[in-house]
Amino acid sequence: MQVTRELFDEVMVPNYAPSAIIPVRGQGSRVWDQNDKEYIDFAGGIAVNCLGHCHPALVQALTEQGQKLWHLSNVMTNEPALRLAKKLTELTFADKIYFANSGAEANEAALKLARRWALDVHGQHKSQIISFTKSFHGRTFFTVTVGGQAAYSDGFGPKPGDIAHADYNDLASVEALISDNTCAVMLEPLQGEGGIISPDADFIKGVRALCDKHNALMIFDEVQTGVGRTGAMYAYQDLGVTPDILTSAKALGGGFPIGAMLTTTEIAKHLKVGTHGSTYGGNPLACAVAEAVLNVVGDRDVLAGVTEREQLFRNGLERINAKYNVFAEIRGKGLLLGAALNDTYKGQAKALLNAAAEQGLMCLIAGADVVRFTPSLVIPLQDIEQGLVRFEQAVAHLVKG
Ligand SMILES: *Cc1c(COP(=O)(O)O)cnc(C)c1O
Repeated sequence: MQVTRELFDEVMVPNYAPSAIIPVRGQGSRVWDQNDKEYIDFAGGIAVNCLGHCHPALVQALTEQGQKLWHLSNVMTNEPALRLAKKLTELTFADKIYFANSGAEANEAALKLARRWALDVHGQHKSQIISFTKSFHGRTFFTVTVGGQAAYSDGFGPKPGDIAHADYNDLASVEALISDNTCAVMLEPLQGEGGIISPDADFIKGVRALCDKHNALMIFDEVQTGVGRTGAMYAYQDLGVTPDILTSAKALGGGFPIGAMLTTTEIAKHLKVGTHGSTYGGNPLACAVAEAVLNVVGDRDVLAGVTEREQLFRNGLERINAKYNVFAEIRGKGLLLGAALNDTYKGQAKALLNAAAEQGLMCLIAGADVVRFTPSLVIPLQDIEQGLVRFEQAVAHLVKG
């Protein structure tokens, strides 16, 4: 059967509007479509393919596990899940891990754990969740309501309650909401979907202090920032602040679906037997791949390489901007970068993305005004250079109109 873009409209629920490009294979940071047109991949899915496409270590982990055992259920323990959990505890502050299948599910678990902890330890009054405008935490009804864009949670009937939104990088707005009734503050240590917004160091430390003062848990959603994306294994490690609960997904599986919630023994103990669960959470295939991801990304050279690549991107984008004057700012950290369009080109991020695709370059947007780059953490340096040449051609097209 010939698969076409038209078939999407025929057989798919219309909640996405994919482009006409139909990629069929990838290798490293190059992807080819049905017509054998080649693309350089500055998107990596959406910050998912942290080691590019078909990385040999991941292919090996997947095929080896695929010959052994695919699925067991949580009625049994399994080797890959416990190996991965052990590894995550070694790499982070956490003592205990819960496995899910996506970022939203990891966040759902984090929020339910926080609510249960507050109920057990402090009582019913302590249920308020504070998060931030423009934040994104997933699409389950709880996580999307905690997320900072009402447009995503409106229109589905009554929402989960006692959720309030402060403004990112505005400590006073948190102070105005927080009280001893606050159960948890959830935030991204660098807002991704919201437009690549870095946190001020004082803000993050201030939120931690407010959480401590009011006995509220601090939950870091590291679904997009985690696993090397910002140049540290997890972004919190560069911020001088330790959360109580951390969630990871996207890059954790390098393209294989997995999510994880990380926390301390003291907090974890409130998710007692039977309080929460998932059929696929801890799936052996997913965990085997994720362990291989952590082995590769955990290499000092790979993390140092992220910072080196960030500089190449920044230099290249600044050079393009010096010539065409389209960006107000290049922002973000590591390989989670945003080129924010200036007033003249406001609202044209999607047009620029389309122009880039035309030139054989995959990138992303983060809102209407920001072009986002989240390539493989090990993207070859010459692919960055060549991709930026294509991006410059796209910018030139945009400027010409
Ligand atoms: C992508 C993302 C999510 C949602 O992850 P899914 O796997 O799509 O459920 C949650 N939080 C952040 C910060 C994300 O970037």
